[in-house]
Amino acid sequence: MALAMDISTETRNLLADVHEWAVTHVRPRAREVDDNCAFPADTDEVLAVCPVRHSPLDFRYSGPGHTDDPEVLRKLEGGGDLLGLLVMEEMAYGDGWGWQALPGNNLGERAVRLLGSPEQIDKWADGTLRGEYKFTSICMTEEHCGSDLSQIRTNVARDGDQWVLNGQKRFISLGAISDYLVVFAQTDPGSGLAGIRAFIVDRNDPGLSVVKRAEDKMGTRWYPQAQLQFDNIRLDDDRRLPSDNFGEIMAIMNGTRPYCAAIGIGTARGALDYAWSWVKEHEKGYSSKRWDLLEDQVKEMRHGLDRVRNLVLRAGWRHDLGTADGTFAHVAKGHAVPVIEAVTFRAMQMMGPAGSSKEHLVEKWHRDVKFLDITEGTNQMHRIGVSRAYIGRMASKA
Ligand SMILES: Cc1cc2nc3c(=O)[nH]c(=O)nc-3n(C[C@H](O)[C@H](O)[C@H](O)COP(=O)(O)OP(=O)(O)OC[C@H]3O[C@@H](n4cnc5c(N)ncnc54)[C@H](O)[C@@H]3O)c2cc1C
Repeated sequence: MALAMDISTETRNLLADVHEWAVTHVRPRAREVDDNCAFPADTDEVLAVCPVRHSPLDFRYSGPGHTDDPEVLRKLEGGGDLLGLLVMEEMAYGDGWGWQALPGNNLGERAVRLLGSPEQIDKWADGTLRGEYKFTSICMTEEHCGSDLSQIRTNVARDGDQWVLNGQKRFISLGAISDYLVVFAQTDPGSGLAGIRAFIVDRNDPGLSVVKRAEDKMGTRWYPQAQLQFDNIRLDDDRRLPSDNFGEIMAIMNGTRPYCAAIGIGTARGALDYAWSWVKEHEKGYSSKRWDLLEDQVKEMRHGLDRVRNLVLRAGWRHDLGTADGTFAHVAKGHAVPVIEAVTFRAMQMMGPAGSSKEHLVEKWHRDVKFLDITEGTNQMHRIGVSRAYIGRMASKA
């Protein structure tokens, strides 16, 4: 990969180890996870030889987990989001399931960390670091709305000194198996975003049920999205996350959107390398002019990935510094995903009919990257987010 920044020898060595793990241990099980819609039977053995102990998505809070030495972490680009994004790309280069099997892919935990009180952070968010909770989810999307959360119908009403939650959510990642869920609900019907608050629902709370355990999806098939029902779930005040600022609520994704892009860059790079090697190994009798054209196209695709990687790393660096706003995340994911989709599609196309065959993983990677254009905001929403930020800035200067 080409980086427009210097990274330490320690980081380079770690990335080389992660790359080796992803190609040697994760990729050979990629067809199995796609066919079975589940992690492989020997997942624990694969994770036991992983060079890091936590999911890169969580490095900001947990660190990579293979070392606690502050001096080593400092040399590893600080051990936070910048390192996490670099490691994520290498993991996804092998295949997307590896990083998701590691502990720490917990959007529910992230929501509690950003919106919760110190007591809630200690109990629920730090509980995942202590190993008390394995999976957590964030529940925003409903059957009829995802981008426009002002339409949320799941509602919560005050009854005595408790809250009563009712409604349904769909497409909730890990929703059927999470230990707890952070559920976004309307407290004041008709008030749109202003009335939305977040509540922690424990897996064992009476009234929580699973309508559908997993969607039958085109890609990322090992990663389950559930449909959940909430029937008169009674919650004490300590389950309500105190933030009532919707901008703050959405800040959860300032940190996670660049990771979506890093996953896609790793997958697209893996697909391109695989397809280009395959084309070169199979004597196709192409004219030299056609080879030249193909070489130019491959170079252009690599440049495209390098350009969007720089946006993604910039978003992570600003997040580590604590100076990121939503715009960096919108720009990074909004620019990256179309490039990722185009490269993965072209990689498959370069192989001709073989690209569509299940003998090769390129058709799977092409299906896998589709979800990046949906989850954590569609591309249109990123463009709207960037436009709003710039128009807002111009208006404030006028
Ligand atoms: C694999 C996967 C995992 C997911 N995990 C979760 C999860 O854990 N928790 C959760 O809450 N949700 C989750 N989701 C749901 C996801 O966040 C939503 O599907 C997403 O936000 C899009 O919302 P929507 O489904 O309402 O689509 P819509 O908003 O209906 O979008 C449909 C199309 O219309 C376009 N569009 C919408 N509004 C506008 C506009 N104003 N201008 C122009 N175009 C527009 C969109 O860009 C899109 O192309 C997941 C989805 C997938 C596929």
